[in-house]
Amino acid sequence: MYWEKEIETISRKNLEALQLERLRKSVKNASASYHYKNLFETIGVDPEKISSLDDIKKIPFTNKEDLRENWPYGFLAVSKDELVRMHSSSGTTGRATIIFHTQHDLDEWTNIVARSMYMTGMRRGDVFQNMMTYGLFTGGLGFHYGAEKVGALIIPAGSGNSKRQIQLMQDFQTTVIHIIPSYALHLSTVFEELGIDPRRDTNLGIAFLGAEPHSEKTRQKIEDFYGVNAFNSYGLSEMNGPGVSFECQYKNGMHIWEDNYIVEIIDPDTLEPVPDGEEGELVLTTLLREGMPILRYRTKDLTRIIPGPCECGRTHRRIERIKGRTDDMLVLKGVNIFPIQIEKILMDIEGVGTNYQIILERKDYNDHMIVKVEVHKEFFSGDLKQLETLRRAITEELKSDILITPRVELVEPNALPKSEGKAVRVIDNRED
Ligand code: ADP
Ligand code: ZN
Repeated sequence: MYWEKEIETISRKNLEALQLERLRKSVKNASASYHYKNLFETIGVDPEKISSLDDIKKIPFTNKEDLRENWPYGFLAVSKDELVRMHSSSGTTGRATIIFHTQHDLDEWTNIVARSMYMTGMRRGDVFQNMMTYGLFTGGLGFHYGAEKVGALIIPAGSGNSKRQIQLMQDFQTTVIHIIPSYALHLSTVFEELGIDPRRDTNLGIAFLGAEPHSEKTRQKIEDFYGVNAFNSYGLSEMNGPGVSFECQYKNGMHIWEDNYIVEIIDPDTLEPVPDGEEGELVLTTLLREGMPILRYRTKDLTRIIPGPCECGRTHRRIERIKGRTDDMLVLKGVNIFPIQIEKILMDIEGVGTNYQIILERKDYNDHMIVKVEVHKEFFSGDLKQLETLRRAITEELKSDILITPRVELVEPNALPKSEGKAVRVIDNRED
């Protein structure tokens, strides 16, 4: 059941010793890069003087802005000749950041992706359909090489083209899929249109859901519809991509591979560490990356450490499903709201379909939230009273959780724009 039993179940004490050894190497290695060399000189950090894990605090945080300012080569710690691949972020919040890998880096990354997949039960003999964009985005090639290492047969389907995806699943008896959760919901409507029931007509058993926040309800919807065990997969290009953190069979938080990363959770305002178990921003340090080590990277992702050991026996700590990015937080009439809160409520209401959109507007110095929700076709075929009852019910549910009253608009299935990549949930039309 373990890919690498020794490292996955290593004692905390030995894990911390290993981390320290690797941290020292990583910091020394980083100081060969233009960015960290200048930084260390300016603030007087001596890489030789990192003698405990706590000493990591001597190093300032690294932000997406630092990566952008040093674009493209300012973080390189090796000569360009050693590089064999580059990837980039999706550019969700601005200019995409670029990450370079040596062969060693790719091998280590592939290993943690394989470890993650194996952890969920994927094995040699499985047929793995990777429905993520291949190319600069890490979800394609990152998973591809991991699956190859596990020994599965890979269908590198890429994203989009829903009918062909379904055809491939049926023709080659796909057992494992990797899919963006919002796309999985959309694809379910295509299955329905075609009259194909994945539980009856496919061999699917496992789904990896990654790349964007999704609620537990969304996971359950996907599991019910496809008849799969769905596992949450978290990663970001700056830290390689997928494989950073993944759920085990207990699906109670995602193990974060601490032999590869040092994990910190900080208060994004004070930048101080928060106590274990409390929510904050995830900060990660690469321990095994040679080409482009990144120290104390502020992911902007909000989560918390789930205290206590996991039943699976792995000692690497778990993080809670990501609530969103700090930049995703909507501030409306003084109330802070994350899109995921809205998703959580919507997906629990009978009659709600697979897609929604949040629109923010400002009129007469007042902010308004409009929530557009796709609902089942039946609601549009006759009795409009039923539609109005549903609209009121949704409004009430939202109001009682987010404490402001949005204007809810119900639309027919497929009326809202859908994306083959990360879903765009919020449209902010307010002018600053
Ligand atoms: P970008 O930051 O431009 O979107 P990436 O493709 O590197 O580029 O995406 C990484 C980000 O995607 C993470 O920082 C996180 O915000 C989001 N993400 C990835 N996986 C998950 C997941 N399982 N749950 C929630 N958010 C996720
Ligand atoms: Zn576990």
